[in-house]
Amino acid sequence: MEELCSNFGHSSTSSTGSNSSISAKTALSECSAAWINYLSALNSLCTSGSKLAHSIAVLEQWSLNEKPLFNNYTTSYLTNSWNDLARATTVATGTVKTHMLAILQDFVTIPSVDQSASMNTELEQKRLREHNELIVLENAQSVINIQHQFCAASYDAFSSLTCCFVCQSPVGFPHEQDCSVLKQRWKLPFAIK
Ligand SMILES: [Zn+2]
Repeated sequence: MEELCSNFGHSSTSSTGSNSSISAKTALSECSAAWINYLSALNSLCTSGSKLAHSIAVLEQWSLNEKPLFNNYTTSYLTNSWNDLARATTVATGTVKTHMLAILQDFVTIPSVDQSASMNTELEQKRLREHNELIVLENAQSVINIQHQFCAASYDAFSSLTCCFVCQSPVGFPHEQDCSVLKQRWKLPFAIK
């Protein structure tokens, strides 16, 4: 970290100061764009998941018997889970987007300091680097937090659905002997013949 700061300080005070300020501005706008892209991808995932759940629910209409295989209308739980996750994600990503874009606007790209040769320059640059470092740290912390929160919300939304819908056996465990899902798996190939 010490070395990184030294290098940054060196390049910003060198004769290529204007170049480094351009690349800092580019890095800043790319970081903002990357935030927007990432947060939008979380929402896109929820939209795709909701559409998939809806498609399965539509397909379910063509499979329902007088006595449905799945007593509790599985697909409505699936659709609700995706919709709940999508709503929470929309709110969370909206808040984070506003917050992060505002924070990135506070990032100082330093060029104005180069033009002054006063004794305060070095102190001022040190202060600005510390200011920028806090912004970078908050960026990193925020992406960790939102990724973790998204995974936790996703886990909460779907963990109750990971058992067999018919016999309630947890995923990875054998079905009950009389589970119709188990019977269905073995019956189908013979029925097709
Ligand atoms: Zn089962």
